[in-house]
Amino acid sequence: MTSTPDLIVVGSGIIGLATAFLAHEQGRTVTVIDSADRPVGSSIQNFGHACFTGQADIIQDVAAVARDGWRRAAAAAGFWAAESGTWIPATTDAEMQVLREFADHRGADQVTLVDAAGVAAGIGHPGLAAVGGAHLPWDMRVNPREAAPVLADWLAREGVAFVWNTQVTGVADGVVETVRGDFRATDVVVCPGYRLMGLFPELAERHELRVCTLVMTLIDRPDRIPAELGMLTGTSLARYDGFAAMPGAGALREELAHREPELVDCIANLMVAGIPGGLLVGDSHAYSLSPEPFIDEEIGQLLLNRATGLLGIDRPVVRQRWLGQYADSPATNLILDRPDSRTTVAVVASGIGMTLSFGVADLALTGGSVSGFRPAGDRRVTCT
Ligand SMILES: Cc1cc2nc3c(=O)[nH]c(=O)nc-3n(C[C@H](O)[C@H](O)[C@H](O)COP(=O)(O)OP(=O)(O)OC[C@H]3O[C@@H](n4cnc5c(N)ncnc54)[C@H](O)[C@@H]3O)c2cc1C
Repeated sequence: MTSTPDLIVVGSGIIGLATAFLAHEQGRTVTVIDSADRPVGSSIQNFGHACFTGQADIIQDVAAVARDGWRRAAAAAGFWAAESGTWIPATTDAEMQVLREFADHRGADQVTLVDAAGVAAGIGHPGLAAVGGAHLPWDMRVNPREAAPVLADWLAREGVAFVWNTQVTGVADGVVETVRGDFRATDVVVCPGYRLMGLFPELAERHELRVCTLVMTLIDRPDRIPAELGMLTGTSLARYDGFAAMPGAGALREELAHREPELVDCIANLMVAGIPGGLLVGDSHAYSLSPEPFIDEEIGQLLLNRATGLLGIDRPVVRQRWLGQYADSPATNLILDRPDSRTTVAVVASGIGMTLSFGVADLALTGGSVSGFRPAGDRRVTCT
C-alpha cells in the first residue's frame, strides 16, 4: 500500500461494505481487507430480507437510516432491491391477534391488515387456508448472492482499495496487522461477523458471542409466486423483537408449543424469500461456539414441508441446501465497541444484519450507539 487511507474496514460482508459505502460517499479514502477472495460469509448465506418493520421500537431510527442506505447503494451499484414489503399470513386467531396489536401499535403506514383473500393473493397461493394477515410495505428484498459482491465490485471501480486473501491478526491504534504485514489508517472499523473471537476474544466473551447455524434450502419458484416474495409466519411473530413485544405474543408462543412442537424444538423462524433463482426456505437455529458442520435432513424436510404447505407447492424441486452461520449473542443484538480512539468494532449479534447494515455502518462512522438493544424472548435460552 503506497498511501495511508482515511479508513480501513476489516471484513467485506454487508456490514463492512456498508461502512465502506458510507465513508466513500463522505469522500473518505477507504481500504477493505478480507481473508477471503470475495464476500462469502453470512451476507451471502441469508434470505436478503430487510425486515425493518419487525425490529424492536428502540432500533427503528437505525432501521430508517439502513433503509435509505440500501436504496442509495442499490441505485448506485445497480443491484436488485425490491420495495415489495413482507407478507404475513395468519393461520390462527392467535397469530391474527398479534398482527392486530402490531398494526395498532405501529399504525397504518407500517402495517396493512388484510383479509384471507388479500394475503393469499400476496403470496401467490389462492387456496391458502388463512384467517387473515398483514402486509408490511416498508420492508425490502435484495438477492444476498448478488448484493454484497456487486457492491464490492462497484466500490472497487469507484476507487475503494480491496485487499483480498489477507487474514487480519490484530487491530489497534490505527494499525492493522495482517499475515502480509501492517496496514495503517486514520481510523479502522472492524466487521468480522461471527469470527470476532479470532480478533477480539475478550470482547467476544464479554458479549457471550456464539455462532448460530441455520438450515436453509433453495427450491424452484412456481410462476404464480412473486419473485420478490418476502413471507414471515407465526414462528416469526414469536421471534422478531417488534412482534414479540406485543401482548398477544405469549399466547401465540403457547399455541405454537402445542400446534408446532417440532418447529419450536428446532427454534424455527419459518420464512420464505424469493430471489431470481428460486425461493429461499428456512430456517432453524442452533447455537454453539464451535458448531457442528452437518445439516440435519429432518429439520430441512420439516421446514420445507411447512413452507411449501403454506405456498401450495406439492412437489418442491430442491436445488441447494446449506448451513448458514451468523454471529449471535443471548445478551445483545449489537456489538458496537471502541477498544481505542481509532478502532470501532461493529458486529450484529442476531439474524438481522442485512436489515440493519447501513444503519449500523452509520453508527460505526459517527460514533453513535444504541443502549438496551437486547434480544426479546427465546434467544436468551441457551440451546445446543
Ligand atoms: C441463513 C441466514 C439467514 C439470515 N437471514 C437474514 C435476513 O433475512 N435478514 C437479515 O437482516 N439478516 C439475516 N441474516 C443475518 C445476516 O446475514 C448477518 O447478520 C450479516 O450478513 C452479517 O454481516 P457481516 O458483514 O457482519 O458478516 P459476514 O458477511 O460474515 O462478513 C464478515 C467478513 O469478515 C471477514 N473476516 C472475518 N475475520 C477476519 C479476519 N481476521 N481477517 C480478515 N477478514 C476477516 C470474513 O471473511 C467475512 O468476509 C441471516 C443469516 C443467515 C446465516
